[in-house]
Amino acid sequence: MKSRSRDYAISRRGFALGLGAVAARAGQPTADYYQEAARRLPVRRFDVAVAGGGTAGVVAAIAAARQGAKTVLIENKGYTGGTVVEGGTALHSFFNLWKAFPGVPKRQVVKGIPQEIVERLMRIGGCTGHAEMLSHYDYDSVCTAIDTELYKLVTMEMLHEAGVTVWVNTFVAGAIREGGRIAGMITESRSGREAIYAKAFVDCTGYGDLAAHAGAKFTEPNDYSVANSIGVANVDIERMCEFLKSRNTLTQLARGRRSGKDDQIVRFGGESVTLSEEFNAGARQIGLSMITTTTQDQYLMFLKLNLKMPVSPTSRDAVAEAELELRKRQFKAIELLRRHVPGCERAFIARTSPSLNIRRGRLIVCDYDITLDDILQARHFDDDVFVYGFHDSAPRLKVGGGGTYGIPYRALLPAGIENLLVAGMMITSNHDAHMSTRNTVSCMGQGQAAGTAAALCAARNCGTRELPYSLLRRTLEKDNVYFE
Ligand SMILES: Cc1cc2nc3c(=O)[nH]c(=O)nc-3n(C[C@H](O)[C@H](O)[C@H](O)COP(=O)(O)OP(=O)(O)OC[C@H]3O[C@@H](n4cnc5c(N)ncnc54)[C@H](O)[C@@H]3O)c2cc1C
Repeated sequence: MKSRSRDYAISRRGFALGLGAVAARAGQPTADYYQEAARRLPVRRFDVAVAGGGTAGVVAAIAAARQGAKTVLIENKGYTGGTVVEGGTALHSFFNLWKAFPGVPKRQVVKGIPQEIVERLMRIGGCTGHAEMLSHYDYDSVCTAIDTELYKLVTMEMLHEAGVTVWVNTFVAGAIREGGRIAGMITESRSGREAIYAKAFVDCTGYGDLAAHAGAKFTEPNDYSVANSIGVANVDIERMCEFLKSRNTLTQLARGRRSGKDDQIVRFGGESVTLSEEFNAGARQIGLSMITTTTQDQYLMFLKLNLKMPVSPTSRDAVAEAELELRKRQFKAIELLRRHVPGCERAFIARTSPSLNIRRGRLIVCDYDITLDDILQARHFDDDVFVYGFHDSAPRLKVGGGGTYGIPYRALLPAGIENLLVAGMMITSNHDAHMSTRNTVSCMGQGQAAGTAAALCAARNCGTRELPYSLLRRTLEKDNVYFE
C-alpha cells in the first residue's frame, strides 16, 4: 500500500473505496468503482482551522481568534450552534451540584466565553438565566435554557466580532496528512472543493470527521439513542403544568425569565408519566421524553423523540431510515399531546432539526481517557484546562462532594497527530464518564481550551505537545476560565 502521508487520508469506508479503485483509470468507471481524476484545489491559508461550528466549535473559534490567530470555522449547516440548538434541553451545567450536598456553597464553575454567550442571550430575551431548580435539584441545581434561534444569531455575531472567517454550508470532506501533522483539510461547498491549510486544527464536528479523515484511531461505540427534538408551539404552559401536577407527575420545575418576564415556569417535566394507559404506551413506543424547557410563552423549546439505531449513526443507509422513523414519531407525539394533555389541544410542530441529533458518533482515541473514577472522585490533574461539576446520571452518579473534576489538556489531544485538538462529544470512552463530559457546558469549556491552545501553538509554530502548560493556563485564567 502507498504511504498515506501527503495523500489525503479518508475514513475507513471511503478508504476501502479508494483501494478498490486502484485498477480503474482516472475518469473510467469499472463495474464497481469510479476512479476520480486528480483535481487542482485552491489553497486557503489560516493559522487555526476549526471543523464544525457547534457547541464546542463556536467557542473554540472565538477563543482562537481572540488570541490573534487568523481563524476559519467550517460548518456544514447554514448556522452555528450544533446540538445546543437542535437536541438539548438546557445547558448543563455552569454550577456545582450544591443543592444535593447540604452545606456545600453554590459556585459557578464554568465562566469564560460560555458565560459571555449566556449574557448576550439574556440581553435579547434568549435565555432563562441560571434559574434554580425548585425540585429534582439533586440532578442539576440550576436550569440554563436558551432560545434556539437567538442562540444561532448571537453565536454568529460573536464569531464575526472576533474576526473569525465563518464558512457555513461547507463540509469537511478530507484531510491532507504530512507525516505526523495535518497540513490541510479538504472542504466542499457550492463554491467547489478547496484545501484549507493551517498551522493548527481543532475538530469539533461531533462525529470526529476531521480526525478520522486524518487517520486518528477511533471506534464507534453506538451506545446511545439518536433523537430529533422538536419545538412545539401553541401550548398553554401553565395549564399543562397544572394538569401534570394534578396527576402527581410534575417531577421537575424551575422558574426563570420567559418572554421578558421573571419568575415564570421555564423547565418542567415528568419522567414517570402516568397520564393514561394509552398515553404511556404511545410515549414509550416513540421514545418521547416529557422534560422540556422554554424561554417563550406558549412554546416548548424542546421535546425529545429518541430512537436506538441498530448500527452507528455514521451509516448513511441506517440514518436515512431513522430520519423517516423520527419524523413519524414527531407526528405521533403531537397527536398524543393534543389528545391527552390539557393545554396542548392546538399544539403544532414549529421546529425540527435538519438531521437527526447524535449523542455520540466516533470516539477519538486521545492521550488521556477520562475515567468514571476521575469524575466520581472529583480528581484534578496538573494539566487541567477547566473544571466541571455536572453528571447527567445524577443523583445516581454525582461528582464527589458537590465539587468539580478537571479536564486535562491531554484528553483533547488525538494520539499520534501533532497539530490536532478535539473538543466535544467525541472524547471519553467509558459510557458513564461520557454521560458527564458530553454535556453542553463541558463541550463549551473544552472548546475554549482547545481553541486557545491551537492559537498559542500556531503563534509559536509548535506542536500541541510542545506547548508549555504554564502559558496555556495563564492565558485561560486571563480569559476568565475558572480553576479550583
Ligand atoms: C437529543 C439530545 C439531547 C441532549 N440534551 C442535553 C441537555 O439537555 N443538556 C446538555 O447539556 N446536553 C445535552 N445533550 C448533549 C449535548 O447537547 C451534546 O453532547 C453537545 O452539544 C455536543 O457538542 P459538540 O460540539 O461535540 O457537537 P455539536 O454541537 O453537534 O457540533 C458539531 C457541529 O459540527 C458540524 N459538522 C459535523 N460534521 C461536519 C463536517 N464534516 N463538516 C462541517 N461541519 C460538520 C455540525 O453541523 C455541528 O454544527 C443532548 C444531546 C442530544 C443528542
